[in-house]
Amino acid sequence: MLIVMATKATPKMVDEVCSVIESMGLKAHPMPGALRTAIGITGNKSQVDSNIILAQEGVRDIIHVTKPFKLVSREFYPENSIIDVDGVKIGGPEFVVMAGPCSVESREQCMIVAEHVHKAGAKIFRGGAFKPRTSPYSFQGLKEEGLKILAEVRDKFGLKIVTEAVDTETVNLVADYSDIIQIGARNMQNYSLLRKAGQTKKPVLLKRGMSATLEEFLMAAEYIMAEDNPNVILCERGVRTFADHTRNTLDLSAIPFVKRTSHLPIISDPSHGTGVRHKVIPLSRASMAVGADGLIIEVHHDPAKALSDGPQALTPDMFDDLMNQMRSIAKVLDRECG
Ligand code: PEP
Ligand code: MN
Repeated sequence: MLIVMATKATPKMVDEVCSVIESMGLKAHPMPGALRTAIGITGNKSQVDSNIILAQEGVRDIIHVTKPFKLVSREFYPENSIIDVDGVKIGGPEFVVMAGPCSVESREQCMIVAEHVHKAGAKIFRGGAFKPRTSPYSFQGLKEEGLKILAEVRDKFGLKIVTEAVDTETVNLVADYSDIIQIGARNMQNYSLLRKAGQTKKPVLLKRGMSATLEEFLMAAEYIMAEDNPNVILCERGVRTFADHTRNTLDLSAIPFVKRTSHLPIISDPSHGTGVRHKVIPLSRASMAVGADGLIIEVHHDPAKALSDGPQALTPDMFDDLMNQMRSIAKVLDRECG
């Protein structure tokens, strides 16, 4: 349920309505907008008596939200959410590119790649320190040592850091070192991890599960927002289909669907979405064209020696090419890039 306050409603009236809602055992989520404040209600198991609320001073209207997701839905919050990652704004006019290796392998590797992607116009550096690998015998990441290398990258280049948290035991550690906590495809429905990531209040990059419907994807985002963390960035990273010419099938139609259904920003990951280096640039172009708010791209200075996901890593030269193409398309779409 969504309460629309009158344009002239005062902050005191909004507070009053919130306390009435809380006194009914429900949770109020005030959302100030350009013209008026809306107040979302969650926690109701059945229909709420709207007459009590309508009788409050300053209440203009009540809208019954039909979708199972509330806080993530555009019905609740009609304007685009812009997530401010320490000065880098995702979801506004800027098309934000995150780039870096799949895994943090060494200090030297990260410095080489970071210097390059920074020069090319990336704003956020990616790199996994905790790696969710299909095989328990594969490289699992440098863990805290990797997080320290990422923090050095931030200090040296001013890049913001996005890195994955794989479990509830280490999510707070990841939060301490990073600017954005990544929740990977394999953990999209790990509800205790989603809640804990939400509780950190840090921006969270939530990747779509490899066989998740868009409703399941948005419900996972709802878990984070239900912890009073509005800083959620969604990421389409491909789903599993019968097609075998790519690692996954990048579901580009998810992007306009999400933009219409939710106010949250959504970026695209054509690296995991295709798994093939030479398909990353074409799918990046397409991602911007369908309305993505940014990209997350794997880059390695020596992909043949990468400890994970080498076949999909762009070389630094290819990344330059990608950024130049993105800047050209951004002009046509009235967006800024790099
Ligand atoms: C990654 O970003 O390196 C990763 C493991 O991605 P995903 O969770 O989308 O597979
Ligand atoms: Mn990877």
